[in-house]
Amino acid sequence: MAVAGVYIGDAAINICIADYARDPDAIPRLTKPQFINVPRSRGFKGAMHDLVEALELHSNLQAIYVGTFGPLVSIDPKKRGKDGSGYGQLQRINTHTQDWQGEHLYDTLARKLKRDDIWIDVDVHVAARGEILHQFDSEYARHCENTGEAALSPREYLAGQAYAFIEISNGLGCGISQGLSPWRGRLHPEFGHSICRHAAEDKLPSDCHLHPSCLEGRASLRAFKSRLKAAGHELSQVLNDPKSNELEAVKDAFRMQAAYIGQLCINATTAYSPAKIVIGDDLGRSSLFLHYTRSFFHQYMGGSRERYFPSYPDLMDLQRYIAGASQIHPGKRLHIGAFGAALSAGLAKEAA
Ligand SMILES: [Zn+2]
Repeated sequence: MAVAGVYIGDAAINICIADYARDPDAIPRLTKPQFINVPRSRGFKGAMHDLVEALELHSNLQAIYVGTFGPLVSIDPKKRGKDGSGYGQLQRINTHTQDWQGEHLYDTLARKLKRDDIWIDVDVHVAARGEILHQFDSEYARHCENTGEAALSPREYLAGQAYAFIEISNGLGCGISQGLSPWRGRLHPEFGHSICRHAAEDKLPSDCHLHPSCLEGRASLRAFKSRLKAAGHELSQVLNDPKSNELEAVKDAFRMQAAYIGQLCINATTAYSPAKIVIGDDLGRSSLFLHYTRSFFHQYMGGSRERYFPSYPDLMDLQRYIAGASQIHPGKRLHIGAFGAALSAGLAKEAA
């Protein structure tokens, strides 16, 4: 069936249109993916107008699934379409996107598209799901190679995989998917607002107006930009010019950012023991940032693999354990979350 996945990022809305089906081993598959980019610069109304226009070009869609920043009033599928339930509505307290506060994503899309087979979720859920499926073939092949005849079936292997996905954008979030089921709790995680230990050498105040020292306040992309600016640098230059990464002031900014994201990695590891921690967006593409994050993680875990607590095999190869997000379309800046949202559309339609 034809499905649409929508990922609402800071600057753009990524859409993935694909065919969804299950293979003979019951693993979901997305084929013939096409990606569309819609700008997100014209406020909520403008963005919805452009998104609806792009989706209306595809008349055969069976389901639409949207991954957005939060917090949302409700993402409980049982409340979908019920008046006043708050399903797919952004909460009014929001720390970084004022012009979308309180807006009803589900109601707006359902009304404009005249359909109710639409689901709303948080960005890190669809991204974590997308990563697990996108990496499935290579990871499963590796598992079979390592375990030989004792290898699990594809279905068993998929169910046992848990990935954490960290999104570092204007906000900061982390979501967990066990197999293809996101960990939701009563609402959805707001991992970015976990309280963190303030690094003594960090001179910048937390920029979260709710918490004096939370991860989002100290290590969102906004915070990183302020950190760079204080050192006389701009984010785009630092990300596009590898030579600038050799400057001590730039290295310090990356190190400080990694000192906080390393704390998030520890918290995700101790709470959920994922098989991988995937970092999205600009910082996930920076090898310097990934290097420092692994190094802080290693240090926080005790400084030697023998002392790691908890300890499990995936942790022994930090290059694999903490990695940048998969590139789904070389050359285009598309988020894996769009792919994960399309997958989620197929799964939601099957479950409905
Ligand atoms: Zn906070």
